[in-house]
Amino acid sequence: MTEEKSMNNIIEILYTQNSRPDLWNDWQWQLKNSVISGTQLLSVFKTKDKDGDIKEVEKKYSTRITPYYLSLIAQEAEHDPVLMQCLPTSEELTENDKFKDDPFEEAENMSMPGVIHRYKDRLVLLVSDMCAMNCRHCTRKNILGNKIGLYADDELQKAFNYIKGEKDVREVLISGGDPFMLETARLDYILSSLSEIEHVEVMRIGTRVPVVLPMRIDDELCQMLARHRPLWINTQFNHPVELTEYAVKASDKLIRVGIPVSNQSVLLKGINDNIDVMRELCLKLQRNMIRPYYVFQCDPVAGAGHFEADISVGIEMEEELRRSVGGLALPRFVADMPNSKGKISLRMLGSKA
Ligand code: SF4
Repeated sequence: MTEEKSMNNIIEILYTQNSRPDLWNDWQWQLKNSVISGTQLLSVFKTKDKDGDIKEVEKKYSTRITPYYLSLIAQEAEHDPVLMQCLPTSEELTENDKFKDDPFEEAENMSMPGVIHRYKDRLVLLVSDMCAMNCRHCTRKNILGNKIGLYADDELQKAFNYIKGEKDVREVLISGGDPFMLETARLDYILSSLSEIEHVEVMRIGTRVPVVLPMRIDDELCQMLARHRPLWINTQFNHPVELTEYAVKASDKLIRVGIPVSNQSVLLKGINDNIDVMRELCLKLQRNMIRPYYVFQCDPVAGAGHFEADISVGIEMEEELRRSVGGLALPRFVADMPNSKGKISLRMLGSKA
């Protein structure tokens, strides 16, 4: 596609928001019209990688951005916090021993395919290898799509049998990829099967859909989710501009059917490693009944090293927030460390350094 054609195509897609709101609000249309080539974006948005070789990056890490998420980008903004989370850059090819393809060795240490059982009382099920958007800072960016999940019925059944045999497991996190990329009926089947296991007391879903494809949170999905309790949803807003009317409405729909929504941000250099941005994010989340739960240090994953902020940044930010916001707007700043059980507070990590 020529540069001019790409540009016209993207402008046309974005214009759908005004010209055909019926299409814009259809999550399947959003998926079908997602941008899957970063080079297409260079003609529309000014970026620091204008001369970089995005094609080389995309041989390793694919691109997927919904029109909705694209519409949040301020045109011509080189350091736009939305653009930085979705556009490939040549920095992803920087090699450094500190950053590993799979820092938590999830793919290697699965109890069985698709089941990550690091803690005695809880485990993770990977039920989808697709996301509405490919976040450039994703922890699983090197292993997603490598058939590490539970996709066929018999694979899922084996996972349920495994959980049945692990009597200490009381909490199951349904993850992926993004579980909300599954058909509603399939997710219903997974939640129903887990609910039938006596010792599974709590289910959690990890999803970025409220942030990048909020129209997916439709009535059918909410009514289905409402049948499964106790169910908690964790999402990942990283910047206040992501809390749009659409995103707030999607979260509100979940909350109104009785599902608590908590937020787990990732501390991302150049995006939200600034106290004013983080304070605004936390207060906006709280105003919209979304609990600011955690701020994670960016995981040491290959291809995302350029997003890593120094630990001292998070520690200072947490201190400053403690002084300036109420407890309900105050997230815990933590890191997930390879070879350690559980999250570690950044303050504790800082004192060990
Ligand atoms: S939605 Fe989650 S799993 Fe998917 S790319 Fe983003 S961070 Fe990774």
